[in-house]
Amino acid sequence: MIRRLCIIGVGLIGGSLARALRQAGYVREIVGSSRRAEHLQEAVELGVIDRFDTDAARAVQGADMIVVCVPLGAMEQTFRSIAPALASDAVVTDVGSAKARVVTAARAALGARLSCFVPGHPIAGTEKSGVTASFAELYRNRKVILTPLDETDPTATARVQTMWETAGAQVQCMDVEHHDEVLAATSHLPHVLAFQMVDTLARMSDEDEIFRYAAGGFRDFTRIASSDPVMWRDICLANDRAVLKMLERYRSDLDRLAGAIRAGDGAELERVFRNAKAARDRHNDR
Ligand code: NAP
Repeated sequence: MIRRLCIIGVGLIGGSLARALRQAGYVREIVGSSRRAEHLQEAVELGVIDRFDTDAARAVQGADMIVVCVPLGAMEQTFRSIAPALASDAVVTDVGSAKARVVTAARAALGARLSCFVPGHPIAGTEKSGVTASFAELYRNRKVILTPLDETDPTATARVQTMWETAGAQVQCMDVEHHDEVLAATSHLPHVLAFQMVDTLARMSDEDEIFRYAAGGFRDFTRIASSDPVMWRDICLANDRAVLKMLERYRSDLDRLAGAIRAGDGAELERVFRNAKAARDRHNDR
């Protein structure tokens, strides 16, 4: 059981974890921290956290589990603020969507406390943000990837694993680079495509007409273009190498598809669509 959980960044991801652990009776006290007191007051009123402090160093005092749930661009500063204030038995983990940058930030900022840091990433979310969008079931039957470092104390990894399993998730470990490549393909690329597709349509002169006739397919494909632009800016920049690699690959496949349409090559179009449908149907329930 966690004695005192400190969530830094009580939004969709941090708020949902707090709710899940409270619902499971796995935590005695939850302290929140972020920049704006009104957001934290809202989290108290919703019963997500017990109390808060906008000063992260004060918020982590006495906490045995600290989960950093701020945007990627704010990770290093957060680690720097909390490093001198961590309790001797504290475990620190994060939820950032791209791991190499977070690990670089942790190495630079946590110093001698690096061994208590367990990089993590829940593969769960919605296009909404803020504590009002959080819900206890978000992690149920979802995957969480941990990317422990050579320096990470295995006991810290085990404590973070148990915490996520208590929230309903299945935990897997992998190395940082593999995580960033897999997520570039399965999450970062689809978000970039959705954002760009809606932007392309929105810049057409007959935008109103186009969106009026947008059907289910458009809605299915573009739901995630409603996600937080700042968060996705940070993710693309933090995982630039892997995202660019996937974009290049996709661009070359799109060029090939355009070539097939231009050439009236129905067999090639059907081959690609059949292959995609089979893969989608095979993996749909995972
Ligand atoms: P969110 O709902 O916008 O929550 C972000 C929280 O961080 C807010 O409580 C915000 O509160 C706080 N915050 C922002 N800047 C801060 C700073 N400089 N210092 C301290 N607190 C700060 O975002 P989210 O969706 O929960 O995402 C949070 C993290 O989870 C990101 O690192 C993201 O990569 C990762 N993640 C997201 C998803 C997803 O689908 N959404 C999935 C997996 C992982 P204030 O405005 O009061 O500061």
